[in-house]
Amino acid sequence: MPKVYNWQLGREMDYRFEGGMQERQFAAVFNINRCIACQTCTMACKSTWTFSPGQELMWWNNVETKPYGGYPHHWDTKLLQMQDEADPGGQVWNAGASDAKRAPYGQFEGKTIFETADGIQQVATGYIPAEEEWKSPNIYEDTATRFPAGGVSLPEHSGWFFYLQRICNHCTYPACVAACPRNAAYKREEDGIVLIDQNRCRGYRKCVEACPYKKSMYRPSTRTSEKCIGCYPRVEGTDPLTNGLPMETRCMTACIGKIRLQGLVKVGDGGEWLEDRQNPLYYLVHVEKVALPLYPQFGTQPNVYYIPPRWVPRDYLHQMFGPGVDGAIERYSNPSRELLAVLQLFRATQEIVFTYKIEQGPKTGELNVGGQAREMFNDTVIGLDSAGREIVRVTVDEPLIERRDRFAMNTI
Ligand code: SF4
Ligand code: SF4
Repeated sequence: MPKVYNWQLGREMDYRFEGGMQERQFAAVFNINRCIACQTCTMACKSTWTFSPGQELMWWNNVETKPYGGYPHHWDTKLLQMQDEADPGGQVWNAGASDAKRAPYGQFEGKTIFETADGIQQVATGYIPAEEEWKSPNIYEDTATRFPAGGVSLPEHSGWFFYLQRICNHCTYPACVAACPRNAAYKREEDGIVLIDQNRCRGYRKCVEACPYKKSMYRPSTRTSEKCIGCYPRVEGTDPLTNGLPMETRCMTACIGKIRLQGLVKVGDGGEWLEDRQNPLYYLVHVEKVALPLYPQFGTQPNVYYIPPRWVPRDYLHQMFGPGVDGAIERYSNPSRELLAVLQLFRATQEIVFTYKIEQGPKTGELNVGGQAREMFNDTVIGLDSAGREIVRVTVDEPLIERRDRFAMNTI
């Protein structure tokens, strides 16, 4: 089996195919701290792609409440348990073995889902969820852990929950692609979006079994598997709204909480992100390191990154996002001047921002954050498209719009 380099694990690993090949990679950052679980993203996706017979239980985008919720139910704890049984006590990180570019989170010393599989019956360790497990996408919504006597206080709550927004990660080393015996699942060279060729698929459900995030789903009416298609017509720029420019997906652009930012990042032959300092996603993931991959230890090198929730016990977050959690929360809680400006780009435009620049603005005040004094500035962040043209500009201070007198009362 070929060896590929997985920078999220800081080491090589086994994978069925050679890595790399794409020109750009579909990627996104989700800020968990801002999500209100309105499910607008979920419905934007459902009403666009999965409203037909046989797709009733199919939610390519879902938002679940952790720690108890899951779609399908217990998708992550089941796989974590299988991995632990295959490698008892060995699923650990060596956070000290870090290297800014090749191993920013340190080195994962355990085994990926490709390495715990036997390679004969299964290419990746996994399971096919029962129909019952797909039936309740909102199970345990808003259910918190036990609320302790005496209340809770930041930074970490003892009674807690948070919303986890989930789509296909369009992984760099997709388990669904590796597991498909018909080569129906494939990764596009132009943008890394992972698709299933409906003409080649025979519904063996190997992709459903292998995907650690359970984002490939079976459709009984066509006897094929389907998955998130990354709204590829929009990403290609064929949607009339943007005159040929790459546009963000339906779930991203509909987001009420402004938690999502999507991009197309430059990648090298080994699937690593090429340096692109002024790309907002590159900046968030590789420079500020405030956004982290979901369960990187599974080994698929997922391309959706999360700013972890500040109030959740760290052990839980370390297991879910790896050793980068403490630094990410620290930098998000007391953001640099540049980070504060870049965070304003979330949901400021439907077009994909390829580059940003910042115009410095006046000092507007002073704050005390966690005992540290900090100055506030009303900087302006400017987003540019793939041709370097300005598509959006936003200030750190939200402009104050006063109602005109005639709208002051609810009368006409
Ligand atoms: S999240 Fe699952 S379905 Fe999506 S690319 Fe990765 S392995 Fe495939
Ligand atoms: S639309 Fe945005 S805020 Fe609402 S549930 Fe989806 S991710 Fe969360």
